[in-house]
Amino acid sequence: MHILLVRFSSMGDVVLQTATLNWLRALLGKEAHFSFVTSSEFVGLMTSHPEVGAVIGFDRKGGESWGDFKRKIMSLHSERPIDLILDLHGTLRSFRLRCSFWRIPALTVDKRRWERFLLTKIKSVRLKRLFDLKLFGLETQVTRIIRDFEGIFDDTRGVRRTVEFRKGAHQELTSLGARSPFSLPTPYLVIAPAASFEFKRWPVASFVELVRVLLKETSYHLVILAGPEDTFCAAFDDISSDRLHNLQGKTSLKQSMDVLAHATLCVGNDSGMNHIAEAAGVSCVTLFGPTDPRFGFAPHGTRSRFLAKEMACRPCSTTGKTACYRDRHYCMEEITVAEVRETIRQILEDR
Ligand code: SF4
Repeated sequence: MHILLVRFSSMGDVVLQTATLNWLRALLGKEAHFSFVTSSEFVGLMTSHPEVGAVIGFDRKGGESWGDFKRKIMSLHSERPIDLILDLHGTLRSFRLRCSFWRIPALTVDKRRWERFLLTKIKSVRLKRLFDLKLFGLETQVTRIIRDFEGIFDDTRGVRRTVEFRKGAHQELTSLGARSPFSLPTPYLVIAPAASFEFKRWPVASFVELVRVLLKETSYHLVILAGPEDTFCAAFDDISSDRLHNLQGKTSLKQSMDVLAHATLCVGNDSGMNHIAEAAGVSCVTLFGPTDPRFGFAPHGTRSRFLAKEMACRPCSTTGKTACYRDRHYCMEEITVAEVRETIRQILEDR
């Protein structure tokens, strides 16, 4: 059986699908063949994954036409006929892909859009509690996907469906990344202050304060990881310490993966960095603001924790893209440095 899995973005969601792959492999055995379609910037996340045969990237930002992209899939299909398309994205783009290959059976993930939407619209904390406990719980997105899809297979008894990266995932993920050119002294904690959207970020001043506290109260080295566009990380340059390593904009995605895979712990927002760290078996502290762990992105590691403030306005956005409509960014500002520090302490002492 040849299955084409489709997830164009974002980085964290693509990483999370490694658990789906592991589940499919356990279910279908060695004979099954998996190919993966994603955005070109995330091809590197999947190319060396042991469960994936071919990775096809769509370079929409670089101007690749839909026709050229489609031809790449047609070529894959002619080499090894695709038996099933698993659409793990559920967007217009993935719908277009399914339509382009309408002769191939396809299944798409149910993203629970209306439940998510309703949760962002209810403004009573009590009602929200009743509503979301019934509909959401803390089921992760991947567990949900697996539950949706398992009905299509004849017998899934005995196949674990928990979110679980296979033993050795640490080495696998590390092998995906080029060795970091930075010789970082260990042990170190990663601070990942960036996020895909501004309102998903804990204030940089709070991250800076946290770094000061950690430098003072622990002996760990601290590594700042963020992309080239996250210039707000210059705020960390005011701290003078040879235990602080600000790598903002200095690492490729693969090098960031490598740095994360060797960390003791990662502290960050609801973002791809935290998902990558967890995939490598590294515990995380994840800070939620306008989005919500119940949307399916709660950290799943046994020692990982998340912090989120219960308030009438949150969650206000299914993706974190929507601008905050209040006079202040309360959902994030009310998460204190002391709370994050305490959560870090608990995880480190639990090791
Ligand atoms: S404070 Fe409320 S409205 Fe503003 S971003 Fe946070 S959850 Fe949304």
